[in-house]
Amino acid sequence: MNKIIDGKAIAEQIRQTIAADVSALKAQGTTPGLAVVLVGEDPASRVYVSMKEKACAQAGIFSDEHKLPETTSEAELLQLIDRLNQDPRIDGILVQLPLPKQIDEGKVLEAISPKKDVDGFHPYNVGRLATGNPLFRPCTPYGVMKMLEYSGVDLKGKEVVVVGRSNIVGKPVALMCLAEHATVTICHSRTRNLAEQVGRADVVIAAVGQPEMIKGEWIKPGAVVIDVGVNRVGEKKLVGDVEFAAARERASAITPVPGGVGPMTITMLLYNTVESAKRRSANK
Ligand code: NDP
Repeated sequence: MNKIIDGKAIAEQIRQTIAADVSALKAQGTTPGLAVVLVGEDPASRVYVSMKEKACAQAGIFSDEHKLPETTSEAELLQLIDRLNQDPRIDGILVQLPLPKQIDEGKVLEAISPKKDVDGFHPYNVGRLATGNPLFRPCTPYGVMKMLEYSGVDLKGKEVVVVGRSNIVGKPVALMCLAEHATVTICHSRTRNLAEQVGRADVVIAAVGQPEMIKGEWIKPGAVVIDVGVNRVGEKKLVGDVEFAAARERASAITPVPGGVGPMTITMLLYNTVESAKRRSANK
């Protein structure tokens, strides 16, 4: 029997706990606040930002929107971040990437206070995750971990194979699995015998960005498959990094695309913002 891991349903369950936490915080006089900064006109970024704003409104989180023109200078953006760092209403600061080319992304991410870094990209938070004492965890890999937890997958002693080594998905998800006592292998474009590596895995986490490149026949019977990939094929169709139909035949549980990891990312952004607000409330 294999099972579809329903990201929408898990995200909805987590959002209910978030809404309850927000109500409790408000009753104590703390409204969680997220600042969302968008620079320029990138259409995909606009869509993501409006989804984040809508999700904040639904959860009762105050969202402080800053839409800046494409011509914004690095100094102007750094000034805004400095203001948001000081603003006591703001628990999280999110700068939508990519930024226009005149702005150094690394410099901007480092300017965000690590205590408001709800995306978990600041080197301070990367270091805390790597040393096993995380403050903020990046949203997509954190969403993957929540999906495994809600599906009852215990990682202790398991062979986890992560395909992809990006800073936003592959590396942090590997660190999170290590913290859960899995034995972790990270594969990438220079890995030899990828099929063999994947074939050893009790849990496969795919974050490559290549449509269906992980073949169903590579999957060990009974393995759990988490597909982070989102690839557009043709006009409208979205597929993951895993050959879903064939992998489903062998896996004990698998995430679909869409409707798998996708809905978890914004949910974990809200989650991180509320955790940050809880720390503010505790320090009042
Ligand atoms: P990146 O392009 O930053 O990283 C891709 C990784 O895959 C790299 O480490 C690369 O290796 C590796 N890779 C590429 N080709 C191969 C190959 N043939 N064999 C083995 N490894 C390979 O992507 P991201 O991590 O940002 O994203 C990965 C996927 O996840 C994308 O489809 C993206 O759209 C999706 N995504 C989904 C999110 C969501 O659902 N909310 C959020 C974020 C991402 P190397 O390092 O050697 O180049």
